[in-house]
Amino acid sequence: MTVSQDSTTGNGALLEVRDLQTHFKTGTKGIIFGIGAIKQTVRAVDGVNLSIEKGETLGLVGESGCGKSTLGYTILQLESATSGDVYYDGKDLTGLNGKEMRPFRQRMQIIFQDPQAALDPRMTIGQAIAEPLRVHGVVTPPDKSSTSFWKDLLWFFLRLWFFLAFPVYYLLGKLVKRSFEKHRGNPSATYEDVIEKKVEELLATVGLNPYFKNRYPHEFSGGQLQRIVIARALSVEPEFIVCDEPISALDVSIQAQIINLLEELQDQFSLTYLFISHDLRVVRHISDRVAVMYLGKVVEQANIDALHDEPLHPYTQALLSSVPIPNPAQAKTRKRIILEGDVPSPIDPPSGCRFRTRCPIAVDRCAEEEPLLRDARENHWVACHLA
Ligand code: SF4
Repeated sequence: MTVSQDSTTGNGALLEVRDLQTHFKTGTKGIIFGIGAIKQTVRAVDGVNLSIEKGETLGLVGESGCGKSTLGYTILQLESATSGDVYYDGKDLTGLNGKEMRPFRQRMQIIFQDPQAALDPRMTIGQAIAEPLRVHGVVTPPDKSSTSFWKDLLWFFLRLWFFLAFPVYYLLGKLVKRSFEKHRGNPSATYEDVIEKKVEELLATVGLNPYFKNRYPHEFSGGQLQRIVIARALSVEPEFIVCDEPISALDVSIQAQIINLLEELQDQFSLTYLFISHDLRVVRHISDRVAVMYLGKVVEQANIDALHDEPLHPYTQALLSSVPIPNPAQAKTRKRIILEGDVPSPIDPPSGCRFRTRCPIAVDRCAEEEPLLRDARENHWVACHLA
């Protein structure tokens, strides 16, 4: 069956992307009054269909420059779509203005690749995490209903009486008040106190010492910074997070810690992830399903085990053959597929199948006819004439 826009989207999906295109105009300026200008179009994302169920992780893999991050930004409406639709919880986000997008900004967050660049060096991490709490009003001001003037006055005279009578009674009064605060909430807490407490909770959630809140980004390692960025994304209590290569700038040992943290947080807060990476090993570890992108298009989509065990598209097979195998004996027997040439320009992609200039099994038909994504097996979609 050939895929039309609805075919790879499931019923009840949290996110549905339908025939999404994101093109950028580029080119040279003319010599005078625009004469001689050359206008070109970069087809970064060129007709993508996918869906993500609630609580699922969809891995998105492909080489650098294939349009993975642009797809993530377009889903979040950080880039404008040229055409197509992005449905989030049944609502089409394309074309919404800033005010209409605001509730969705809280529900959809992003973790960027470079945590150093994602944080303002002049803000303490406490300020950085507290900012979205204030902007989205996630933290409500403390309930002051129990702190009337008369109650405060009563406490004052009670303590004064105890103080004048016996110092021991004064201490007893303090104890009674502390017990009252414990059970009724701290009536003297301000909005800033509540935010500070929430920031401390968030830092503890991502495995950092809450007292780090007064430090600046340059005082942290890369792994700690990525934890801070994750805490900031979690601060607005999102449902869906685009993880844009969140570990590619980190050491291998730290990568595992961040992946484990993301998995724990997913269980704890029922999060849904779009996990963008060029590393198929990592994607296999964290994802339920995988979509493979090449030059602005999804060329294969399947459950993680099906894709690893029986990849159907020649590009996926080449990607998998480059994944290192820890066992040297196994690695020796594995057949490596080395792709010739560079990725073509998204300004002028090849006719027919976009992969044909590097495909080891291309035939004449591949240059004339574009292969559409079709279900070659159950829940396994591929865009190749010969698959
Ligand atoms: Fe290769 Fe042709 Fe399949 Fe494209 S359609 S992946 S060129 S065999």
